[in-house]
Amino acid sequence: MSTPAAASSPPLICVARWGGEQQLVAAADVESGALLAAEYPIAFVEIEPDDEDGAPMLLLESILATDDTHARVVAEDLKLTPWTLGVGDRATLAALARKYRRNPDKLAQLYHRVAANNIRYAQAGVIGYGIWPLVSRANHSCDPNARLGATPKQPLAELLLATRPIARGEAICWNYLGDESFLALDWMARNAQLLEDFQFLCRCPRCEAERPAAVAALPRQEIAAFFGLSRR
Ligand SMILES: [Zn+2]
Repeated sequence: MSTPAAASSPPLICVARWGGEQQLVAAADVESGALLAAEYPIAFVEIEPDDEDGAPMLLLESILATDDTHARVVAEDLKLTPWTLGVGDRATLAALARKYRRNPDKLAQLYHRVAANNIRYAQAGVIGYGIWPLVSRANHSCDPNARLGATPKQPLAELLLATRPIARGEAICWNYLGDESFLALDWMARNAQLLEDFQFLCRCPRCEAERPAAVAALPRQEIAAFFGLSRR
């Protein structure tokens, strides 16, 4: 599927170094409700509701299918979160590397980036997953200052909207789970879901304040077991 070029964004945000990594930051004082960005995807794949679990892999394959799209996604140097690969994922990646004649290690790296940065889009009956590079620079927070939206006037555009006043220099963050009810959950339930869906423990200020001491002491490799999660 062809994807339109990124829309020009209002100069309310910029990508800057914040908290040790490249993040989306307010470039000016922002009012609540302000449109921070309207961005089109550089890669997008429509997904049937039954296939949502395999969405990152389907998105990866759609990226590989077009050299141009592949080059654009690689050039974005998206955030890399090491992703635990199951046996099935490893076999699929090996098959894709052969099919599209890609270096298997580079392909696995690309999959990690796609898995960590893909965003779900649902609007007017279209459900899909894609890469919106600017929006994906914003971190998750359980006390977010922005949210994603969509409009039928701009199909496939992700709108990033301020949900409260944001001071210049503050990092922009949104709730990766999308659903408002997620924010009502306690630390344990929120982080179990973030681990399951995104493979990270949240370090937003709210989670830092609410995190049980027992978890803080756990080594990284024991976190999933603590939550009763088995890695695929
Ligand atoms: Zn959090």
